[in-house]
Amino acid sequence: MSQRTFKRNAHIGYFKRCLSVLPQAAEEHDVNRVTIAFFSLAGLELLGALDRTGRDGWIEWLWNLQEADGGFRGSPIPGPAHLPSTYTALCALALLRAPLDRLDRRGLMRFLRACQAEDGSFSPSPRMPGAFQNDTRMSYCAAVARAVALGGETEDIDVEKARAFLTRCRTWEGAYAARPGVVEAQGGTTYCAVAALNLLGGVADVGETTRWLVQRQLGGFQGRPGKLEDVCYSFWCGGALATLNQAELVNSPANTSFILDAQSPIGGFGKAPSDFPDPFHSYLALAALALTPAREELGLKAIDAVWNLPFDVRDYLMGSAGPSQ
Ligand SMILES: [Zn+2]
Repeated sequence: MSQRTFKRNAHIGYFKRCLSVLPQAAEEHDVNRVTIAFFSLAGLELLGALDRTGRDGWIEWLWNLQEADGGFRGSPIPGPAHLPSTYTALCALALLRAPLDRLDRRGLMRFLRACQAEDGSFSPSPRMPGAFQNDTRMSYCAAVARAVALGGETEDIDVEKARAFLTRCRTWEGAYAARPGVVEAQGGTTYCAVAALNLLGGVADVGETTRWLVQRQLGGFQGRPGKLEDVCYSFWCGGALATLNQAELVNSPANTSFILDAQSPIGGFGKAPSDFPDPFHSYLALAALALTPAREELGLKAIDAVWNLPFDVRDYLMGSAGPSQ
């Protein structure tokens, strides 16, 4: 365990600042607004500091992103619904315990079916066909959204093709690349593939993938061989190992030390020590810590590695829990 102090209050302040500046965020970040909201809300939730009072404005803001075709846009600016924004909007609504009666589950499934390509992959939007962006990240977002949509719908995506696409992303190293034919596997795309396969009832080859993932640990984790450590890979690789029921193979003290060293004095986490914090690395650092035995000592909520959400939030999104009062 690192000697570094966990800067809990600074992190709470950091995520609150991220949320408070969102309405005035620069225009070029507009498509990412819902994603920044998700990271900030989820970070506060893991810290046990998500104050849901005054949540109505946020909830309304999120519902207004739901398009007629069943997906969600990434910002209030008119534009097509987008698969990653749909995933993050659903997670943000669940984190806020929004009553989900306004969720168009039937439309959501239609949206996912419209995004699915002939080869089983998913495009970010039905209006954005083209193989370049159809990667394991899109498959993961689709797999989570499908699990939510199934509650109200008998129709489905082509699950067999979706699994086959993911299987074809496996490289000679035993881990997963973004798309079939990409030679090099990467930690983030491996997490997305392994977690999506889990959600879609598929089977990943545990042995080879585990070996590749374990070899990515230096102290923290690197994204691929020859690269530097980066806290987000503590989640991508650690989360993939947890999904494969191999979390105990992580050298947890070394991983925890690296992540805590990446804390910023103003709160939040950079990708590595001395880097400026951003919402993405700040949330994934906490999610990675939540998967380690240090979690209780640090006072973090446990998460389901496959869903990248606390267990009760996952259950809420799946519809097995009622709205909190
Ligand atoms: Zn990173």
